[in-house]
Amino acid sequence: MHRAPVTFRHPGQPIRCRMCHRPVPTDTGDVCDRPTCQTRLRVEAASEISRQKRQRDEDWLEVSKRRTRSVLRQAAKEIGVPRLDGIAHGLAPYIDLRQTRLPEDRRAEFLAHLITVIDESFAKADGVTTAPQPPEDDPEYAERLAHEPPEPMALNASCIACQGDCCMQGASAMAFLKEETITCQRWKDPSLTRDDLIELYLSYLPETSTIGSCVYHGPQGCTLDRPWRANICNSFQCGFRRTLAEAIEKRPGTGAVVAGLSRTHVNDPSAGAPYLRVVSVSPDDTVTVLDHLKLPALRKGMPERDD
Ligand code: SF4
Ligand code: SF4
Ligand SMILES: [Zn+2]
Repeated sequence: MHRAPVTFRHPGQPIRCRMCHRPVPTDTGDVCDRPTCQTRLRVEAASEISRQKRQRDEDWLEVSKRRTRSVLRQAAKEIGVPRLDGIAHGLAPYIDLRQTRLPEDRRAEFLAHLITVIDESFAKADGVTTAPQPPEDDPEYAERLAHEPPEPMALNASCIACQGDCCMQGASAMAFLKEETITCQRWKDPSLTRDDLIELYLSYLPETSTIGSCVYHGPQGCTLDRPWRANICNSFQCGFRRTLAEAIEKRPGTGAVVAGLSRTHVNDPSAGAPYLRVVSVSPDDTVTVLDHLKLPALRKGMPERDD
C-alpha cells in the first residue's frame, strides 16, 4: 500500500512541512498552509485516489478473467476450436437493463433537440454544397475511415455481449446528434429538406429502447443506421473492444468468443449468478449468443489455468 513519506525528527526539533521544509505549527499536520503546499497536497491526494481506482480495476479484471475462463473455453469448443488459445477472446462490460416504450416526455425532449440541431444547420449552412468541416471531437475520422479496411465481424462479439454500455451516455447527449452531424448529412445529399431529416431520424426510433439509455438503444443494439449516426457513435471503442481488436489482429480469421460481464458480478459469488452474456463469432462469421452458459461460482484464489 502506498503511504506518504515518514519524516523522522529529534525531540524539540520543529515539525517541518514535507513539501517546502519550512516549520509548521505543531497541530496542523505535516504540510504548511502556503497555497503551493496545499495545492501539492491536493494533487497528491487526487493521484492516490486514481492509483487506488486503477488497482481496483486491475483486481476486478484479474478476478473476472479467472471466473470466465471456463465458459469462454466452452464457447470456443462449441464453434469447433478445442483450445482457448486458438481463438481471439476477451471480456466486455455487460448491461442487463429492461426495454421499455420510450416515455412521451423523453420522445418530446429528443424531438425538440432534433429540431433544434436541424434548424441550426439550415440557419448556418443553407444549400450545403461543399464538404463540412471535420468534427472538432475527431478531426481525422473521415480520412481514417476512407483508408481503413472494414472491421472484422468477430469484433462485434464485444458489443453484442455488452449490449451497449457506452450508449448509456447517449441518453443525456441526445444520441450525440449535433448541428455538424446534420450538416454532414445535407452535404452527402443536398436535396434533403428539414422535414425529410426530422422524419428520417424519427423513423429509426425502436419500438422499445433500453431504460435510461439513448433513444436509439434497442434490444439488439443501435437502431440508427451507421451513416446517420454522429461520428463519435461510429468511431468510439471502449478499452475492452480495443483489446479484442488486438487479439483478433494476432489471430486473424479464427472468430472470437467474448464474455460480457457486469461490474457487480464480484458481489455475488454463487454459481449461475445472472451477470453474464457469452457471445461467439465463428470463423465463418456466424454470431451466437450462448445463453446456456452460466457464470461459475467465484472462488477466492481460484488458480489461473493454462489451456
Ligand atoms: S464499445 Fe465497449 S462499451 Fe460500447 S457497446 Fe462495445 S463493448 Fe460495450
Ligand atoms: S445513436 Fe446508437 S450508437 Fe449512438 S449512442 Fe445512441 S444507440 Fe449508441
Ligand atoms: Zn510548505
